[in-house]
Amino acid sequence: MIIMERNATDEQIKRVIDEILRCGLRVDVSRGEFRTIIGLIGDEKGVSFDHLAGLPGVKEVQPVESKYKLVSREYHPDSRIIKVGDVVIGGGEPVFIAGPCAIEGREQMLKTAEEAKSAGANILRGGAFKPRSSVHSFQGLQEEGLKYLAEAGEKFNMPTITEVRGEGQVELVAQYVDILQIGARNMYNQDLLEAVAKMGKPVLLKRNFGAGIEEFLCFAEYIVAQGNKDIILCERGLVPIGKGKEYTRYMLDLSAVPVLKKETYLPVFADPSHGTGRRDLVEPMSRAAIAAGADGLMIETHCNPQEALCDSQQMIMADELKRIIDVCIKIRKIM
Ligand code: PEP
Ligand code: MN
Repeated sequence: MIIMERNATDEQIKRVIDEILRCGLRVDVSRGEFRTIIGLIGDEKGVSFDHLAGLPGVKEVQPVESKYKLVSREYHPDSRIIKVGDVVIGGGEPVFIAGPCAIEGREQMLKTAEEAKSAGANILRGGAFKPRSSVHSFQGLQEEGLKYLAEAGEKFNMPTITEVRGEGQVELVAQYVDILQIGARNMYNQDLLEAVAKMGKPVLLKRNFGAGIEEFLCFAEYIVAQGNKDIILCERGLVPIGKGKEYTRYMLDLSAVPVLKKETYLPVFADPSHGTGRRDLVEPMSRAAIAAGADGLMIETHCNPQEALCDSQQMIMADELKRIIDVCIKIRKIM
């Protein structure tokens, strides 16, 4: 990264940017209150850092060794705060995303939204394009579902989030919701990440169930490289090893929460619903995630979980959600 002098002129900054662009790279320019930092995006092999260091207005050239430099705390020491409507993500207060696994109909969406709102949830979720292991399972209501989600969000004054499963859906989904979700299965899909990043809306990126932390951050880097730093990282569990899966659907890696907070400036969420697959474990793992430093939780809720078309066994009802939110707020205050 290139750190400019405090009093560097726009012309000097432009000269540095032009030189980097001439080498076939792209740039990420952060204009802070006191100084401008220019991050390089791309293969740096052909770049002469000595030459850049000698340009007027350049204070210093600092190599960032990490593969995910644009999302690293080294690059941006201050935590990112993301504002969506009235909701502040990463600002200290825990944020709760709640709603059904899948949007199943207008009534179900409105009722679940009303209950989630009164339980204290801040953001409304609901899947319209569901990633399913079987083609014979319920796939989601698609655009019809997006309409119900948007209606419910508006009615109860809650920003909305839904998963974008494929590139062909990006523009459609972005018309209806405030935050775009990349599911665990798509964490590695560079083309989808780039297309979603370009919508200019916050992106919630789920960690793939087999991905290491470095890989997770390297794929978040693709979003920032498109000029979008409004990323929420979400830990949602890894594939359990050995006999683990007899007890939980995935293994929620809560050590990832403080590691990610240390490595990056991005807000970190946890999803105890998919992370355990069991409604009785959602509350203890929610408490643990907030205690580990998570900025928020994504919890699947349903007005009638027994009848749900998808992930019925892990969805909770609003009374339990309220209990979780209340206790998590207390835990955060103690911390
Ligand atoms: C979801 O949140 O709806 C979902 C499918 O989660 P994941 O991508 O973590 O499996
Ligand atoms: Mn689900």
